[in-house]
Amino acid sequence: MLPPLPFDTTHALIDGTWEPTDETLPLFNPSTGETIGAIARCEAAHVDRAVAAARKAREGDWGRMTAAERGRILTRIGQLVLDEVEVLTRLEALDVGKPLTQARNDAIALARYCEFYGGAADKVMGQTIPYLDGYTVYTLREPHGVTGHIVPWNYPMQIIGRSVGAALAMGNACVLKPAEDACLTALAFADLAMRAGLPDGALNVVPGLGAEAGAALAGHPGVQHVSFTGSVATGAAVQIAAGANVVPVTLELGGKSPQVVFDDADLDAALPFLVNAGLQNAGQTCSASSRILVQRGIADQVMERMAEAYRAKIVAPATDDADIGPLISRIQKTRVEGFLAKGADLPVLAKGQLAENLPPEGTYVQPTLFGPVAPDHVLANDEIFGPVQVIIPFEDEAEAIRIANGTDYGLVASVWTRDGARQMRLAKALHAGQVFVNNYGAGGGVELPFGGMGKSGHGREKGFEALYGFSSLKTVAAYHG
Ligand code: NAD
Repeated sequence: MLPPLPFDTTHALIDGTWEPTDETLPLFNPSTGETIGAIARCEAAHVDRAVAAARKAREGDWGRMTAAERGRILTRIGQLVLDEVEVLTRLEALDVGKPLTQARNDAIALARYCEFYGGAADKVMGQTIPYLDGYTVYTLREPHGVTGHIVPWNYPMQIIGRSVGAALAMGNACVLKPAEDACLTALAFADLAMRAGLPDGALNVVPGLGAEAGAALAGHPGVQHVSFTGSVATGAAVQIAAGANVVPVTLELGGKSPQVVFDDADLDAALPFLVNAGLQNAGQTCSASSRILVQRGIADQVMERMAEAYRAKIVAPATDDADIGPLISRIQKTRVEGFLAKGADLPVLAKGQLAENLPPEGTYVQPTLFGPVAPDHVLANDEIFGPVQVIIPFEDEAEAIRIANGTDYGLVASVWTRDGARQMRLAKALHAGQVFVNNYGAGGGVELPFGGMGKSGHGREKGFEALYGFSSLKTVAAYHG
């Protein structure tokens, strides 16, 4: 059951007003397989009005606010998010199937993004540039105008925080298209933003299908920047659609992120990261570590210890707050099962436990650890987006780098070794937007710029760097003699 909410889940938010759509989409609880409500199904006409409302906000109250005032509003939103953490947690658990502790972490991260970007809003400065005699030259950072945000279902709160938070900090007005599989926390966030004093139209939310509301937003001529997080295929389509309007695009796409474990690594420290970075959110994490590269001398030991950890993992409904919940949907479950079938030729080291009496219609998959696996196997190259990891043994540093960099992706990587020089060499050699040394993920790091190389995308969100992405640079050259 949904908790009582101050908005109707079947409404979109356009120009500060909640409004119904002619048609709705079902709201599915992946833990039980039940339909627990409905959401709005926006179409191109809704997106048109949302973009027009955002333009009006840019030209009105929102556009006239000082950076400090924008920052104060974002900080207030962050406080309201913290006040409502338990409601947001429950919504995300019901909608995404995320175990409560993991959903709560996302809600707290959303608050942190609002605090971080609230504090940063008035600290983005230009430069003065020494130039020819008689000139004064300086740069200004200006908002793009209207920004479109197309968000996936796996971490709605964190992704809204990092993209909408940074865009608002720079003074853009936003149109947000949450995923059709998980949009409740997007609606709740918008409600809190309005309560915090965000002017009408500065944030509009248009739930609906990707092919309808999403495509309309990506190619809308009134949008000056598109931030997309999702799959490679859709990202490429979004880039083409936005390209027709010659506007910049940030693409945060998938990954096949490796952890590289050398035989001098502190295995006690590494082990929880090796396992949990692959199983968090049932492996439906863009930066999931789905490939574990292990030096041959310790490969047996790592396989044995990871297998032991897998056998202790429990899969249960989100509200039971076990290690792992269901997958987001039946489609995703079928997709992951398809990959497991492709791994039928591989040695299975261990599986996690399905809790007793799981609802039969819930979309559960048993976590599975394969090893040893050859680096050219499909399970070692394709993004599975489920609770599946492969262990790939390697001989030496050169081979480790070759395997680690051997996929089309380049989102995140880590290296585990006590050798300081090797840490530095690997940090340079690994093809990834973030490299971690003797850890994985660094606790999520709202402050840390994040984004991909290769088919993991381009552009950076998170940290201060995102503020540059959500603004454009103007150079002013004044001649005064
Ligand atoms: P998806 O690409 O199917 O959908 C993402 C969003 O795009 C949804 O809101 C969807 O409605 C919308 N969409 C679909 N078709 C569209 C179209 N033609 N035009 C515009 N929008 C459209 O991805 P998904 O299945 O929801 O998410 C899983 C993928 O997202 C995985 O590949 C994962 O790695 C990636 N992801 C990446 C990051 C990151 O930061 N790099 C974070 C989370 C997820």
